[in-house]
Amino acid sequence: MTELTHLRGVGTKAVERLSKLGLYSVEDLLFHFPLRYKDRTHVRRIADLSPGDEALIEGRLESARIAYEGRRVLLASITDTSATIQFRFFYFSQKQFAFFKPGARLYAFGEVRKSRRGYYEMIHPEYRFIDYHEPVPVEKYYTPVYPTTADLHQKSLYRYINEALLWLSDPANSLEELLPEAWNYGISMQQAIQLIHRPPLETDMDSLMQGEHVARKRLVFEELLANILSLKKLRAQSRAEKAIQLNTECHLFKKLAKTLSFSLTDAQHRVIQEISADLSRPLPMMRLLQGDVGAGKTLVAVAAMLQAVEAGYQAAMMVPTEILAEQHRTNLRKMLEPLGIHICVLLGSQKAAEKRAALKQIRHGDIPIIIGTHALFQEAVHFANLAMIVVDEQHRFGVHQRLLLRQKGANNEYLPHQLIMTATPIPRSLAMTLYADLDYSVLDSLPPGRQKIKTVAIPNERRTEVIEHVRAACLHGAQVYWVCALIEESESLDCQAAEQSFEMLKKLIPEINIGLVHGNMDAQSKEQTMGAFREASIQLLVATTVIEVGVDIPNATLMVIENAERFGLAQLHQLRGRIGRGEKQSSCVLMYQSPLSGDAERRIQAMRETNDGFEIAKEDMRQRGPGEILGTRQAGQLCFRVANLSRDSEQFQKALSVAEDFRKQSPELADKIVARWLGHLVHYAEV
Ligand code: ADP
Ligand code: MG
Repeated sequence: MTELTHLRGVGTKAVERLSKLGLYSVEDLLFHFPLRYKDRTHVRRIADLSPGDEALIEGRLESARIAYEGRRVLLASITDTSATIQFRFFYFSQKQFAFFKPGARLYAFGEVRKSRRGYYEMIHPEYRFIDYHEPVPVEKYYTPVYPTTADLHQKSLYRYINEALLWLSDPANSLEELLPEAWNYGISMQQAIQLIHRPPLETDMDSLMQGEHVARKRLVFEELLANILSLKKLRAQSRAEKAIQLNTECHLFKKLAKTLSFSLTDAQHRVIQEISADLSRPLPMMRLLQGDVGAGKTLVAVAAMLQAVEAGYQAAMMVPTEILAEQHRTNLRKMLEPLGIHICVLLGSQKAAEKRAALKQIRHGDIPIIIGTHALFQEAVHFANLAMIVVDEQHRFGVHQRLLLRQKGANNEYLPHQLIMTATPIPRSLAMTLYADLDYSVLDSLPPGRQKIKTVAIPNERRTEVIEHVRAACLHGAQVYWVCALIEESESLDCQAAEQSFEMLKKLIPEINIGLVHGNMDAQSKEQTMGAFREASIQLLVATTVIEVGVDIPNATLMVIENAERFGLAQLHQLRGRIGRGEKQSSCVLMYQSPLSGDAERRIQAMRETNDGFEIAKEDMRQRGPGEILGTRQAGQLCFRVANLSRDSEQFQKALSVAEDFRKQSPELADKIVARWLGHLVHYAEV
């Protein structure tokens, strides 16, 4: 592994930011792949554009004005010799507007869409004003778009990866070929990496996007092989492993059940029993629990954790977001403190003193139940006697992260039991191969009394009506989520969008209390707002997708999702799962920018037709056929870098068929492949 600081322009700040993406070395950077590409290789004539194109254009600014369409917008029209197109900005400053002088020349890059009135426009294009004699800069390669986080700009990441590619081009650093020559992929690893990051002009982009391209196939195959090899190894290891037998009478849970205002569903009873039986054996439990949003998985987790606590051990619960960790803390406290059981949380953005105190209590075994984000993996965390781990919303974690936590909780020769929970249904055949090391339980019914959520789709032009509806609902005592969507791949723009909607709603509905939460806020502010919403001192909560998973506030009955056309189906279902959690009728408004693409229309249609997560997942798999997007790091998908199990099943079968022999014949190469793709995760998992 080569240190990141080896690269030009990468300092300690950058190292810290990259670490948030799980990138710790130059090699990691090389294996951080684009989600998709933009074509800035040539300037296009405006007249040749069609809706949905992303294009580089240049022209003269004809006119610009600020209009009011329910909110302030900046409209500018741009002409080249062929036609005119309009730019539309929702977020802009007066200073920015001042630059929009008629006659100025500019170039821009953005997505073309057809406006309501039928002319073409770009919403928030990237643009720059230039002199008339200046050439428009064009790229020699297709421009990659990388997955990134709020505080790491796409451009910086591009620069770092460029440096990494330069480093790679030095023969001393070239990538080792780890696959047998006889498998003959027609392209070396080195070439494949180079091509995926910087596809040259002549690349067949359709085949690259759809996974047909040799470069992509080469990477997909090796990644799948790496995952299979490492699971095989871990499986072989865990068969030989021991766990602490948690033989109890389940008194604590019985006591708790008596204090609940409802009785358990049959499905909950059944699953709790399956788990309890596992826990009383001397082998580490590895059980996957699948149950649709709102099915009541938390209570099942509590039952499992209480069994450990009753036997005198600690239990930990890992969740993907800080908001969810805080929520579990609040809810579990309410349930468990009357029984004398204490709970602490461990979060990345926690205050140092609070974290220190928590770490001490965990180390000394003063606290039996610990809830945390991936901060639970930190080196400083030492459990006194962990016997049970719950991973909530498992689809948000990589396959290896759960193994990592398990290793972290190892106590001499004993491994903790693991319960892995997810709302995302995985087809059984897939689950069998991927999770062959897991047993499987399913919560197949919802608590009684739930009503179907009414879902409607409304175009942005009718925003005023929607706001009116929200106002009326709030005045009648309802609680409402207002979810703002991605404008670009950047989380910080996302937060900005939420801030603007927040300001707008405050102005338009001054008579109600409105809160705001997004990913750029620290844990404390997030929790303050969520707490206020939970206690209903806030009626309307404006949020980014930070509230997507797990949040449970049963009194909230209305959700508005802005730019719903930009979300995937699995994500819309998760978001909508935040309402309809009590007995009251809930409704969901999907706002969209018309006209909708065919795919977006089908997604919205599916949302209107069904509330059933399994149906939605099936539709999602049908729609997300090849080529919609590269990469798989969206909610609901397993965390691969290039492989996509619905698209690459052929490669998967191939990798599966050779893995066992390969592992036996070339154990060293096998280890190298695993290290290359699963790097530090596996490293941790095996120490
Ligand atoms: P999820 O499966 O999405 O994690 P939760 O565990 O958050 O769902 O539960 C959703 C809501 O249903 C919570 O408010 C919880 O208190 C409630 N709930 C759980 N089990 C039952 C039950 N048996 N009867 C009624 N309500 C229940
Ligand atoms: Mg949950």
